[in-house]
Amino acid sequence: MNFRDGVLELIGGTPLVKLRRASEATGCTILGKCEFLNPGQSVKDRAALFIVQDAIERGELRPGGTIVEGTAGNTGIGLALVAAAAGFRAVIVIPETQSQEKKDTLRAFGAELVEVPAVPYRNPNNYVKISGRIAEALARTEPNGAIWANQFDNVANRRAHLETTGPEIWAQTEGKVDGFVSAVGTGGTLAGVSMALKERNPAIRIALADPPGAALYSYYTAGELKAEGSSITEGIGQGRITANLEGAEVDLAYRIPDEESIPQVFDLLEHEGLCLGGSSGVNVAGAVRLAREMGPGHTIVTILCDYGTRYQSRLFDPGFLREKNLPVPAWLERSPSVEI
Ligand code: PMP
Repeated sequence: MNFRDGVLELIGGTPLVKLRRASEATGCTILGKCEFLNPGQSVKDRAALFIVQDAIERGELRPGGTIVEGTAGNTGIGLALVAAAAGFRAVIVIPETQSQEKKDTLRAFGAELVEVPAVPYRNPNNYVKISGRIAEALARTEPNGAIWANQFDNVANRRAHLETTGPEIWAQTEGKVDGFVSAVGTGGTLAGVSMALKERNPAIRIALADPPGAALYSYYTAGELKAEGSSITEGIGQGRITANLEGAEVDLAYRIPDEESIPQVFDLLEHEGLCLGGSSGVNVAGAVRLAREMGPGHTIVTILCDYGTRYQSRLFDPGFLREKNLPVPAWLERSPSVEI
C-alpha cells in the first residue's frame, strides 16, 4: 500500500511547474514551486511544522500544549493544522480589521481566535506583541507548556526552507538552477532557500522581489531601510531585517508595483489555469525581470506561495480592482451569451 502517515507528511515535497508564458517571453525556463499544494494551501505549512517540532525538541511543548501566534493568515492556518494533527491547541491573535474569510478559514482549521483592535507595531497592544504576552502567561499556567511561534525572529522558520524547500529545488532541477526569486514576509523562504542553494553553488543568483510599501528593496540596493508607496498584496512586505533575514546573501532586488504583479496573477489564471495569490504575482514578475537580466537559456525558480481563492473578495472583485486603479480582466465580467 502507498500512503503517507498523516497530514504532517503531506507538507513539503511540492512539484515544480513550468510557467509557459513567462518562459516563452524570456527564452529562459521559469519554474514555479507549487507551495499552494501543501495541506494548508501555502508555503507557511513548512515553517509551522519546523517551529512546532523545534519547540517539542526543546521540551517547551508537550502533548496537549498550546501554540500561540499573532498572524492574519497563512502561518495561522499552518499552525492550526499542525496543532490539530499533533495534539496541540492553537491560539491565534488577529486584528479585528482582517477579512471575514480569513477569520472563518482559521476557525475552520480549528484555531481559537483572539480578535484585538488594529494598532501599529510600536503600540504595546499591537496583535503580535499581545500574542507574545498571551504565550508568556499561558506558559506559566498550562501544565503542558505554551509557546510563542514568533515566526519573524524564530529561525526554525528559515531552517524549514534550508532543510526542505531549497534542497528540493536543487534536486528537482538536477542542480541546473541559475537563479531564485522570492518576496519576503518573514524572510524565511528567501533566506532559507538562498542559503541552501548558495551552499551547493555560490554562483546561483538570488533576487528579492519586493512590493511597494516594503523597505527591503532600498536596503538591498542602497543599504537603507526605506519604504515607499503601497500595495494590495498580502502576506509580504517587510520593514526590517528580521532574525530570519540576517546573513542572507541577496544579489539583486526588484520593486514590483501592483500594476505589474496583479496582471501577472490574472495572466497565469487565464492562460495556464493557475489560481494564485498576489505574492505569487510579485514572485513571477520578479522571475521575469531576473530572466531578462540574465539572458536566455537560464533556469529560474520562484515560489507559488498560495491559492488565489484565499483573496476572493478583493483580488477577483471588479469594484475593488477599479477602486485601486488596477486593470480588470475582461473574463472576470464576461458571461456566455446563450439562450436557454
Ligand atoms: N506569500 C504569502 C501569501 C505569505 O503569506 C507569505 C508569508 N507571510 C509569504 C509569501 C512570504 O513568506 P516568508 O514569510 O517565508 O517570507
